[in-house]
Amino acid sequence: MQVNQAAQLYRLQTLDLNIAKLRNRLKQIDDLLGNDEEIVKATAQVAAAQAAQKPLHARATELDLEVKSVAAKISETETELYSGKQSNPKALKELQEEVNALKRRETSLQETLLATMQQVEDANNAITAAESALTVANETKAGRQIDLQAEKEKVVSDIAAVETKRRDHAAKIDPAAIKIYDGLRSRMKGVPVAVLGPDGCSYCHVEQTSLINQQVRMGTKIVYCESCGRILASA
Ligand SMILES: [Zn+2]
Repeated sequence: MQVNQAAQLYRLQTLDLNIAKLRNRLKQIDDLLGNDEEIVKATAQVAAAQAAQKPLHARATELDLEVKSVAAKISETETELYSGKQSNPKALKELQEEVNALKRRETSLQETLLATMQQVEDANNAITAAESALTVANETKAGRQIDLQAEKEKVVSDIAAVETKRRDHAAKIDPAAIKIYDGLRSRMKGVPVAVLGPDGCSYCHVEQTSLINQQVRMGTKIVYCESCGRILASA
């Protein structure tokens, strides 16, 4: 019985395309497994939020000490003012003015302190939000890793199975035909074989002469598409 080499090569191409597709997916999986982009980004955001909070917190502590210090000074000055030890009206007036000035300073400091404390609270909320985002990124990655690892194992075993099929199938093909196939493969984007159907070549869709149609149907020799140069297998 005459071997139909075009049909054999078409089957070989189907296996090769399958292997290429699986290898492509394996590469994607490896890229995804190694991808820490989201975690790196989330970690940087936590650090940035902490860095933004630090000076605000320091400023609030500083203002709080200043308010206490002014309050102590007011109390001290008022004690002196109302102690009765001082009877010089000019000195008393000066003391009262000092108390008034200190109280104005105290009010102003308290307002600044309050605003700063609000900023600290906002900054703390930003830290909490960034930390939650980091936790989510870590959990998402951990979950994804499990799925990807399982898929990787499946793809690796599928590749091995298809490669075995290819080896067995290639062993049945005339080495001269394999050589033609391999020669065309790189030039023709991994698709050196097309199917000849009623509408012509399945790759370039150009109709072929009746002689070519007949030769492809007979399958006794390798026939090429007149337009794209691919080996034609019968449908
Ligand atoms: Zn063609």
